Amino acid sequence: MYRVPRGTSDILPKEQAYWRYIEQEVANICQLYGYERLDAPAFEDTQLFSRSVGEGTDIVEKQMYTFQDRGGNQITLRPEGTAPICRAYLEHGLHSLPQPVKLYYITSIFRYERPQSGRYRQHYQFGYEAIGDDDPALDAEVIDTAWQFFLALGLHLLSLQLNSIGCKKCRPGYLTVLKDYYANYTRDLCSDCKTRLKRNPLRLLDCKKPLCQQIANSAPRSIDYLCQQCDTHFNKLKRYLELLELPFIVNHCLVRGLDYYTRTVFEIQPEAEGAQSTLGGGGRYDDLIEELGGKPTPAIGFASGIERIILNLKRQNIPVPALPRPRVFIANVGDEAKDETVKLASTLRKNGIGVIEAIGSKSLKAQLRQANTLGVHHTVIIGDEEIKAGTVILRDMTTAQQKTILINQLQGLLK
Ligand code: AMP
Repeated sequence: MYRVPRGTSDILPKEQAYWRYIEQEVANICQLYGYERLDAPAFEDTQLFSRSVGEGTDIVEKQMYTFQDRGGNQITLRPEGTAPICRAYLEHGLHSLPQPVKLYYITSIFRYERPQSGRYRQHYQFGYEAIGDDDPALDAEVIDTAWQFFLALGLHLLSLQLNSIGCKKCRPGYLTVLKDYYANYTRDLCSDCKTRLKRNPLRLLDCKKPLCQQIANSAPRSIDYLCQQCDTHFNKLKRYLELLELPFIVNHCLVRGLDYYTRTVFEIQPEAEGAQSTLGGGGRYDDLIEELGGKPTPAIGFASGIERIILNLKRQNIPVPALPRPRVFIANVGDEAKDETVKLASTLRKNGIGVIEAIGSKSLKAQLRQANTLGVHHTVIIGDEEIKAGTVILRDMTTAQQKTILINQLQGLLK
């Protein structure tokens, strides 16, 4: 028996209502804040990701699905959504539009992870990017979009974590102080953190191991080492967030896992589970477009995992609207009735009435049982006598009451 590859899953029909609900809310929120959809391909040049996400990151070092295609090109399945959007922004000259350009996506993401609850090798993300301005009011709006999105879905008990990790001017000074601090604790760090200390010291701050976390809690804070521009930016952002009445918490251990972030970083987490099951996160990436070959172009974005959202909707017992399904079943007895069923089902569907017709040669009792299981509201029953009289029997499936009606009355009654 074949099974789905490890870390992937089939989205079965009974799960689809959650997906459609989220897609609908995504479309609503993006329309409210002025984001337009952009769909990029599932794979890109490997270098696009290794250069943007960063060589020292877990994604690039351990998680990318990279291969050489038959033409000898080095290809990577999209491990995140921001770099492809920036590539498209440059490729299609979107810098000539009024800035910021606001784009969103819902797409599959591939990461070779150790699968566990809420962590898969193929998952889906909703994300959006506002490219072309460094106004802190844009940061506030981007954070507000995410917060309002989760509220609109019905989620509650969420926390909004915020930090500023500075820019290329002030971060090197902070990293020196951070490394000096960690030099006193090298023996106590987990093996991953020992490597991080050399390759990516900022990531020491968000290690999930208890002892590393304890050390991180007392580490120097990036917000105390910001240059004047970054400090002003952060203070203005906090003021806008207060104006928007967003309940943010400054968390100096929040750094995010991708190298391209500058200044603002933020995450939205379920209060109970915290960072282990972050619903979504984002931040500024003011240097990324330039690193990809464009002019200096500040930008900020956010992404959220759809499976994580569904996990939280279920945990919080939030009902989602059922998907529309056919409400009418047509049962029949006899060959002529079968012909009539085929014609009638087609006519009703052409008139916008969803119908399931009895297929095969089951007894009437078995057909009614099937109609019951399908949860239809009405069953139309056709037999030889009805055909002769130009009638059908209409059965209300809730009350089990039946009445004989003229076939040409049926459509009107069902509508
Ligand atoms: P990131 O691109 O790592 O910032 O992830 C953005 C969001 O995607 C996270 O906050 C999660 O909600 C979700 N996410 C990230 N990695 C996974 C994964 N392996 N499986 C499921 N969801 C994920």
